[in-house]
Amino acid sequence: MKAEIVSVGTEIIMGSTLNTNVQYITQRLSEFGIDVLFHTSVTDDPELLREVTNIALERVDLIIFTGGLGPTQDDMTKEVVSDTLGLKLVLNPFIQNNIKEYFNRTNRPMPSNNIKQAYLPEDSKFLMNRVGTAPGIYIEKDNKIIILLPGPPREMKTMFDEQVVPLIKRDPTIMTKTIRTRTINTIGIGESALEMKLKDIIDKKEDIIIATYAQEGKVDVKIIVKENNIESADNKLDRIVASIDRRISKYIYSYDNESIEEVVYRKLLEQNKRIAFCESCTGGLITSMFTRIPGASKVFDRGIISYSNTSKMEELNIEEDILLKHGAVSETVALHMAKNLLDITGVDIALSTTGIAGPSGGTQGKPIGLVYIGIATKDNAYAVKVMLNGARHSIQNRAALRAFNELRKIL
Ligand code: ATP
Ligand code: MG
Repeated sequence: MKAEIVSVGTEIIMGSTLNTNVQYITQRLSEFGIDVLFHTSVTDDPELLREVTNIALERVDLIIFTGGLGPTQDDMTKEVVSDTLGLKLVLNPFIQNNIKEYFNRTNRPMPSNNIKQAYLPEDSKFLMNRVGTAPGIYIEKDNKIIILLPGPPREMKTMFDEQVVPLIKRDPTIMTKTIRTRTINTIGIGESALEMKLKDIIDKKEDIIIATYAQEGKVDVKIIVKENNIESADNKLDRIVASIDRRISKYIYSYDNESIEEVVYRKLLEQNKRIAFCESCTGGLITSMFTRIPGASKVFDRGIISYSNTSKMEELNIEEDILLKHGAVSETVALHMAKNLLDITGVDIALSTTGIAGPSGGTQGKPIGLVYIGIATKDNAYAVKVMLNGARHSIQNRAALRAFNELRKIL
């Protein structure tokens, strides 16, 4: 099935609103094996919207509109699309009531133009809006499916997940095959290096989609298989995942989009271990990421931001001689920071970071992006040297991810 997404709104064309709806819908549709062929954006202009609608009707089977369903004058997606399709708008008493109740619940008077939202194209299904007022609309006409969703991303997503997905799954013309997907999350390997390692698997396309998505410091591999039934889809997916595993296992930290810090948290909890951090170049980022996890206190002792040499001496008992001899950014200092933190706190694992985040301060021997990660446990202590790219904040983000990845490995 071929699809087009039409984003309606002048703010999108102007570039003042980032079009996140189109990204979300496209990604979700691909899970159902629907090929999104076109992304179209159009201003709040009825004539242009009519033109865009006619073009889409010519070239795809499924059109999803977002935006312009609200109560105001410039919201006219429903009116224009209905008119273009030759459908009349009919007042729906149930929706009318719903909108009234929504305003009662939120203790506000209902503006009279909100009533415009209670009109639906004839023979269409309406999609309830649990988190706003504008209902969505599902139209089937002449073997085409046309779906209208509200613009605000939260309303759009809720409606898409709760109502559009079940309708899609039920529709035999859309769901001609069973789709199974899995995401493999990696850290420590670049996107192109990863693609090289998986090249022959990626190229072997027979109802399989394997795509890599690079984010800062990590790369996800998404696998989508299409088969005639669930069993063969699952088998095929397992086979592909296993063959990817064999090639890149040491970079994989999750199979279901868990964050790296959550993986570390879960392992600490399972092993009944406590942890502490001392951070120089990451400036508390590791501690902050970790303490975002609900329940962190079960495994987390403390985080010390030890930035200056003085604080490294005062709070982590690093000897001045060591700092002078090796410099604060060194394997030896990273190692001592972690070991001393372990002694001071009595935790099971202590982690340190020290590095040069830039933009200044780099030298030939110690360039920007050089980071040491120290790890100490009761029977082991070592420091890992990593070289990271990017601007200051990227180096900090990447250093934090790599630190968590080192923890994952020893756990
Ligand atoms: P409302 O009832 O809020 O008016 P609506 O369906 O009429 O909803 P719009 O008026 O087009 O939607 O957009 C409302 C807001 O939703 C916009 O200001 C914008 O912030 C956000 N929005 C709209 N379209 C998109 C999009 N494609 N991606 C991300 N955000 C969007
Ligand atoms: Mg609006």
